[in-house]
Amino acid sequence: MKHVTILGSTGSIGRSALEVISRYRDRFKVVGLTAKNNIGLLEEQIKAFNPEIAAVADETCALELRKKLGIRVLSGDSGIAEVASYNKADFVLSAIIGFAGLFPTLSAVRAGKTIGLANKESLVVAGEIVMKDAVKSGAKIIPVDSEHSAIFQCIEGRGRESIKRIVITASGGPFLGKSRSELNEVTIEDALKHPNWDMGKKITIDSATLMNKGLEVIEAHRLFGFSHDMIDVLIHPQSIVHSMIELKDRSYIAQLSVPDMKGPIAYALTYPERLDDTMPFLDLSAVGKLTFEKPDTECFPCLLYAYEAMKEGGTMPAVLNAANEVAVAAFMQREIGFNDIPVVIKNTMQVHERKPALEIDAVVEADRWAREKAKEVIKLKVKN
Ligand code: MG
Repeated sequence: MKHVTILGSTGSIGRSALEVISRYRDRFKVVGLTAKNNIGLLEEQIKAFNPEIAAVADETCALELRKKLGIRVLSGDSGIAEVASYNKADFVLSAIIGFAGLFPTLSAVRAGKTIGLANKESLVVAGEIVMKDAVKSGAKIIPVDSEHSAIFQCIEGRGRESIKRIVITASGGPFLGKSRSELNEVTIEDALKHPNWDMGKKITIDSATLMNKGLEVIEAHRLFGFSHDMIDVLIHPQSIVHSMIELKDRSYIAQLSVPDMKGPIAYALTYPERLDDTMPFLDLSAVGKLTFEKPDTECFPCLLYAYEAMKEGGTMPAVLNAANEVAVAAFMQREIGFNDIPVVIKNTMQVHERKPALEIDAVVEADRWAREKAKEVIKLKVKN
């Protein structure tokens, strides 16, 4: 019986994970859950899965849940960190979105857990620290992001020297093929209509700008140790090939399935074992065609900025991420247009003085600085 904690259990990945777990009750026991503010759903989840410990952001909500449910419900950053490192968990699914997932992920890493990592931002902003601490504590990190799960599955059992490069696929999002002027007109509602994947709002916007792919390139760089010139991106609108590796003899190995996060979640939960039928059958004859094309970085420059941030390293990826989080929030508030998102990121990165990111304080400071700077850039934009 594997004891599982889910950080961010009310989000899209958290809910899918609980779906997987509920099908295999004989293999998994949920011991910890955390949520930000969806208290109603968390309460339902606690009743259904009986964890021993839970945490929410706000103390008043924690108090209410404690009274109602009679289990330990902690609150705030320290409460979430305590659940992340809870000693009875064997496996921690890190599924909080954005920079907010960094400290909970670090707590689980430092406690030496096996971690199913869905929070890509923690590797983007503090990849050196997370990976170094994992080596120190003996924590294992298993990717849950579908592309990284695919690469993980392709690499398995192969020597690093046999791999020439990795190719991360991208659906291209809802605006694939649109011109810059057409992109000027798109709304938040348009951006939230992802063709293949059903995901949270922030990641859906990121996938429309291709920033999600940019963050994934940096995530792959940190997770697998490939240099920037060994990581390529191809647009693959069908989202069937989740990523591939090219071997030194020019063969490709790819991982295919229907686009369903339950696959990578279940694989992380049971690695190296596989469960039966975690996803629907992939009927390739019904799919018919698998197509690939180069990303259009003129219309979607966020991908280029991510490569730049990765090459610069140090605090630059943290600045890229923070500026992106602020710009996406402003787009969702209708303060800026879709084409302004990359401008905010670029203008913020341009004035950042990069520092090493070997200490967590440097990352936190870069994140804080970049958020402030990005907000200034947005204010100027709104005025003009
Ligand atoms: Mg992904």
